[in-house]
Amino acid sequence: MLPVIALVGRPNVGKSTLFNRLTRSRDALVADYPGLTRDRKYATAELRGRRCMLVDTGGVSGDEVGIDAEMAKQSMAAIHEADLVVFIVDARLGLSAADHTFADLLRRSDKPYVLVCNKIDGLNHETVINEFFALGLGEPWPIAASHGRNVNALLDEAVLPALPPEIEDADRVEHGIRIAFVGRPNVGKSTMVNRILGEERVVVFDEPGTTRDSIEIQFERHGTPYTLIDTAGVRRRGRVDETVEKFSIVKTLQSIEEANVVVLVMDAQEGLVEQDLHLIGTVLEQGRALVIAINKWDGLSKDHRDSIKVELDRRMVFVPWARQHFVSALHGTGVGELFKSIEEAFNCATTRWPTKRLTELVMDAQVAHPPPLAQGRRVKARMVHQGGANPPRFIVHGNFGTSVPATWQRYLENTFRKILKIKGTPIVLEFKGKS
Ligand code: GDP
Ligand code: GDP
Repeated sequence: MLPVIALVGRPNVGKSTLFNRLTRSRDALVADYPGLTRDRKYATAELRGRRCMLVDTGGVSGDEVGIDAEMAKQSMAAIHEADLVVFIVDARLGLSAADHTFADLLRRSDKPYVLVCNKIDGLNHETVINEFFALGLGEPWPIAASHGRNVNALLDEAVLPALPPEIEDADRVEHGIRIAFVGRPNVGKSTMVNRILGEERVVVFDEPGTTRDSIEIQFERHGTPYTLIDTAGVRRRGRVDETVEKFSIVKTLQSIEEANVVVLVMDAQEGLVEQDLHLIGTVLEQGRALVIAINKWDGLSKDHRDSIKVELDRRMVFVPWARQHFVSALHGTGVGELFKSIEEAFNCATTRWPTKRLTELVMDAQVAHPPPLAQGRRVKARMVHQGGANPPRFIVHGNFGTSVPATWQRYLENTFRKILKIKGTPIVLEFKGKS
């Protein structure tokens, strides 16, 4: 699983600045789920070659001196889900009571941590860090997040070595398609997962994978192997007293990352809500194959059903290739059909097409619809090859220069989809070659 790094500390110490520097993302996923703070930010990022998830508790309000109960709770929750806590203090403002409170939270949590002293720019860091020894957390790492000073050293020497060891792909025992059921709280994920695992023809292998938290469940359905990335809270035999957190954004993001195919579960009785679309956006960003399950289809009036379908047509235009299934996890209807789409999505996402085939496809496509002139110059594709799978990445070589018009890109994407019959997965087009 993707290791989780939480950035904590009182307001204004520079958590968001460090977060943005590490993720370089302007549009990190901002949590917006009922019952949770809006103010935690999440992003996946590659830190010196290692993929990680970063959680920023930056927006949590609190006064400068003490920290209020809400902030302590939010920070505790973030620490609880983290593999490593980066605790940031402010060299300019010096040690405060709030810092001591965080230090206590950290000690109580027993989590690995790194103490970071930020804003050392223009200061003599050898002396400013001294007062922070009083926290009893060892020697602080001096950095300047806004200038990037010492940040790479911090990663190389403190952060990365403190993460759980990486599981090499070669050590991972693959067991069929890796599926994650993802969705807002109460849409019916665990009902669906338990329904599937409880089917007569399903064999569940009780031996959990080597991954921590026994997060993977291997099973066979009609003789076909699958691995379930379990965030849904499967009620496993003999483990009923296991306290499973009802909903966790961290686990949701981790499972999307780990899966080949994501089944996005929605609640028909509640209708399509913003958060569903947000989650779909996340799946696309991560490049995962996608199947949509509209659950709780039972007990809805015809009018209600029609209005949901209209709503879906209107708002799912950005994922026209994702299959939609109307299901009832409670009654088990439509769930079997899901697997056909899961198989299809996986097959499309992982197929490798020969260069010759792809090149011919694009040659034909550009005869039918030549790319628009770029600064009066004719633009042409010469060759296409596949750069990767899950999601398929098509590298189009030609004399494209810097920009390829979006309309032509869309046309090409549609052509790839139509001719190669690609359903259920995003595809990525890359254009190479100078003008
Ligand atoms: P957060 O509340 O902990 O997320 O803090 P922010 O990242 O929003 O930073 C608070 C303020 O400190 C902002 O004005 C930043 O520009 C500033 N800041 C962050 N890092 C540094 C640094 O390394 N040096 C200096 N001088 N200022 C910084
Ligand atoms: P999760 O939080 O997404 O795992 O949701 P749960 O599986 O715990 O389900 C939340 C609630 O929705 C429970 O009361 C379920 O009984 C109910 N539920 C789940 N699936 C269905 C369904 O297909 N139809 C109806 N009517 N209720 C369902």
